[in-house]
Amino acid sequence: SEQLIQKSEKLAMLGQLAAGIAHEIRNPLTSIKGFIHLLQANNRKEEYFDIVFSELDRINEIVGEFLVLAKPSAATFVEQDVKVLIKDVVTLINTQSILNNVQIFVEFESDLPMVSCEKNQIKQVFLNLLKNSIEAMPKGGIIDVKVREKEDDQISIIIVDQGVGIPKERLSTLGEPFYTTKEKGTGLGLMTCYKIIEGHHGKLNIQSEVNEGTTIEIMLPAITQSLLKMK
Ligand code: ADP
Ligand code: MG
Repeated sequence: SEQLIQKSEKLAMLGQLAAGIAHEIRNPLTSIKGFIHLLQANNRKEEYFDIVFSELDRINEIVGEFLVLAKPSAATFVEQDVKVLIKDVVTLINTQSILNNVQIFVEFESDLPMVSCEKNQIKQVFLNLLKNSIEAMPKGGIIDVKVREKEDDQISIIIVDQGVGIPKERLSTLGEPFYTTKEKGTGLGLMTCYKIIEGHHGKLNIQSEVNEGTTIEIMLPAITQSLLKMK
């Protein structure tokens, strides 16, 4: 039946994902083992330590992305102010943006309704997206963040950067795990964002022009007045 096919497709996807994770973690582990051997045999070369630490960071990052997804989410959905969450993340990423000559401008519509969400997951989404935007502008630039309420009880968060952009043929496959164009990338950031937003019954749209920039819109269902009255 159709359900069975869906299930076997899901299992196949899970198998692919598991193979991907195993592969991505084995690479840095192999490298760590090699450099520890060298350290054991040779003098304590500083650069070997640096490599080992950076490979450990990489493993930690990969595992971290999956932990965000694995958290039991439904139980911890709480009424939140998106404004506060975004401000927190912008503060968090401030050092990185200054170091990269990137200015982040944030604009909120007044009287925004609240959203029901898992705070840390939604912050992770903003963090991953802003990081990508910063990384897309190696010479610096501006990121514009605009938050407003849409007609259909949705909160729209739009992030616009002036970065390198994404080629058309790549747009439809974004969110696939381990796709990265960065030397130190994990290719897990966008996948995590899609999964989290899906879990919040929201939407994530990406538009991009090569050499012009990327625009990302996140839509989250707002907690409307009528819903509040029903409680
Ligand atoms: P990572 O950042 O580790 O590479 P992501 O899943 O966050 O993994 O992003 C996957 C890829 O999508 C990036 O390597 C990059 O090529 C592309 N990408 C994502 N966001 C942007 C952006 N704002 N501008 C340009 N390219 C982007
Ligand atoms: Mg990323």
